[in-house]
Amino acid sequence: MYDLIIIGGGPAGLTAAVYAIRKRLNCLLVSPDLGGKANAHWIIEGVDTFNVINGADIVRRFRNEIEYLDFARILEKVTKLEKVENRFVVTVASGKQLEARAVIFATGADAVRLKVPGADRYFLRGVGYSTVSYAPLYIDKAVALVGADVMALRGAAELAQIAKQLYLVAPTRGELDTYLGRKLQAAPNVTLFEGWQPVGVEGDTFARKLTVKSPAGEERTLDVDAIFVELGLKPHTALVADWVQVDEEGRIVVNCSGETSVPGLFAAGDVANQPAEQVLIAIGDGAKAALNAYEYLLKCEEC
Ligand SMILES: Cc1cc2nc3c(=O)[nH]c(=O)nc-3n(C[C@H](O)[C@H](O)[C@H](O)COP(=O)(O)OP(=O)(O)OC[C@H]3O[C@@H](n4cnc5c(N)ncnc54)[C@H](O)[C@@H]3O)c2cc1C
Repeated sequence: MYDLIIIGGGPAGLTAAVYAIRKRLNCLLVSPDLGGKANAHWIIEGVDTFNVINGADIVRRFRNEIEYLDFARILEKVTKLEKVENRFVVTVASGKQLEARAVIFATGADAVRLKVPGADRYFLRGVGYSTVSYAPLYIDKAVALVGADVMALRGAAELAQIAKQLYLVAPTRGELDTYLGRKLQAAPNVTLFEGWQPVGVEGDTFARKLTVKSPAGEERTLDVDAIFVELGLKPHTALVADWVQVDEEGRIVVNCSGETSVPGLFAAGDVANQPAEQVLIAIGDGAKAALNAYEYLLKCEEC
């Protein structure tokens, strides 16, 4: 029986594991990979990154510790998670069952991908899914953003503040009738394509053009330096969604200690209802969840 099993090897899970090991908990990290989405790098033409604080570098340091401690990790996917009385039973892809007194759930979330020709080819070379991470690099550039929900408009607002031109491609009306939506529509550097659909991405080494199509079938090709896709995030909660409280976006509801609605189950990073999908937030969440799981285990008489 482990004290703690951490599910997910992204920034949140790796940090949680390092903190739990420092607390001398008998802990195990279960994940098919180490690094999670922090392994993906946005490549930008002509931008100096020597002075940038790089999330991937920080994550690499945590990953190195876990790679070295091979007894503390299993590189497999979890296929089932149950709470049986006061313990958690974790089943991994090979069928092996593991037990723990507490669990940290840190399986992340994936962005809904743009499914048009060229979008995958230019993934991270001009087609990106994390506006909050990269918008600040597009000062005075021409950019497009696809999406119309709250997160999309938040990203659009950030881009509109610094970009020379923002093409806001809103396949649906979404949140355009809100205060933020109206403000964006009134901004002189924002051109709205409401009801238009993206149909293709073209470029050379990097994406350069986004073609969009109107409901009437008219096509226009927009010259851009980057295309941000904000069509929503899908949290990986299938293992717990029917027995743990989730919010309207399907993310696990946590309090400020990372506790979920189920005692002994903590959640951290993008899978939880925290404010933004960022490496440093996931790292902080992971550390917090591990310290609070430690505290929980110290006091738990029945588990
Ligand atoms: C393209 C891209 C670029 C980004 N760039 C930046 C950036 O520059 N700066 C920044 O701050 N943020 C950036 N982000 C956001 C950042 O990567 C995430 O916020 C961060 O990785 C979240 O960490 P996490 O640990 O919560 O989840 P993730 O990194 O998604 O990790 C989840 C982990 O859980 C594992 N997992 C999933 N399901 C299971 C299962 N059933 N069993 C076991 N393990 C499982 C996965 O394999 C993975 O290891 C970017 C995101 C993307 C998509």
